[in-house]
Amino acid sequence: MTKSPKNDLPMMSAEEGIVLFHPHMPKKAKEYVCDTLDSRWIGQGPKVDLFEARFRLQFSQPGSCLAVGSGTDALHLAYLLAGIKAGDEVLVPLFTCTATTIPLLYIGAKPKFIDVNPATLNISIEDLKRKVSDRTKAIVCVHYGGLPCDMAEIRLLADKFGIPVIEDAAHALGAAYDGKPIGAHSEFTIYSFQAIKHLTTGDGGLLTFLDDGLAPLARRLRWFGIDRTNKQKGIWENDITDIGYKYQMTDIGAAIGLAGLEEFAETLAYRRSLYRRYVKNLSDVPHVAIVDDFDPRKEHAAWLFTILVDRRMDCQLKLRSRKIESGQTHYRNDRYSVFGSTEIFPAMDSIDDKYLILPLHTKMTLADVDYICEVLKEGW
Ligand SMILES: *Cc1c(COP(=O)(O)O)cnc(C)c1O
Repeated sequence: MTKSPKNDLPMMSAEEGIVLFHPHMPKKAKEYVCDTLDSRWIGQGPKVDLFEARFRLQFSQPGSCLAVGSGTDALHLAYLLAGIKAGDEVLVPLFTCTATTIPLLYIGAKPKFIDVNPATLNISIEDLKRKVSDRTKAIVCVHYGGLPCDMAEIRLLADKFGIPVIEDAAHALGAAYDGKPIGAHSEFTIYSFQAIKHLTTGDGGLLTFLDDGLAPLARRLRWFGIDRTNKQKGIWENDITDIGYKYQMTDIGAAIGLAGLEEFAETLAYRRSLYRRYVKNLSDVPHVAIVDDFDPRKEHAAWLFTILVDRRMDCQLKLRSRKIESGQTHYRNDRYSVFGSTEIFPAMDSIDDKYLILPLHTKMTLADVDYICEVLKEGW
């Protein structure tokens, strides 16, 4: 286990200054939720079906879409549907939200961490090449901050070993790689609609998978192992053959999500404009390195704007003295005893005390970005 420096500052309130995250609540959310509360369905009902159908169309997802209670639920289902079993080795990013990796522990699988690429904070293709083997049962990647991973290289390795790729696209709704949306490249892709993600349903998530044949099993696993469609039609055999879960999205959540979908293009364009403004302002600042490889194959979803700085805590204190919140958000997963990792990760070591996330959300303006950049330019 590696101990990362423990140096979080206390949270700031939105009245105090520019906060790091803020939920985006779409204009129609209250109206749609109230309609739902007056209807016969508040749990998983017609709005969940509608949300899945609209999501599939709007993000040009070629696979089946299954709306669930969280991104973590979606990951657990993806791992089960990919056939991962107790004892199986799965390659996962070292640097990500623990939600990526914990569901592998539910199954008793063995996560093996892949070091970061310090330029993007996505997985290092070099380390992936070193660690993939005949023992590997799947590759998991995370599009950190919304910047797609090197999917062509990951695909080549997965095909060479005949194993599936599971994309954790919790940060990457709206991103694209090689002109195709995220969700079109791999066997499984998951999204999160947790409070501070691009699109929220309060809490929620969605799994897409390219093999439509898995859809009946996926739907059963989401709901106690019961074939709900046949049950409602009165033709269900009254047997449960799979260990099911309670992983559905509710119509209350879907109502917020449907409102979010209606204005998603606008939300994404706005987030991207803030991101571009940061890049423009900070490109020539010698003491700030921007985490992005600006690879033309990749369209960034602008969930996080991340920089590398020296003396990070001093930088954070300077920002805080000007009423700006900043933070690390995610931590290397080998710091958590639960994963029991003892390996060495030189690339992660090299940036562990340097990466810093700056505010990026729809409650801020381009002028706020300019102000944050001016403070950074002064130094610390
Ligand atoms: C937010 C997030 C998830 C899923 O989170 P939920 O809270 O379960 O929706 C998964 N992976 C990453 C990288 C995330 O940031």
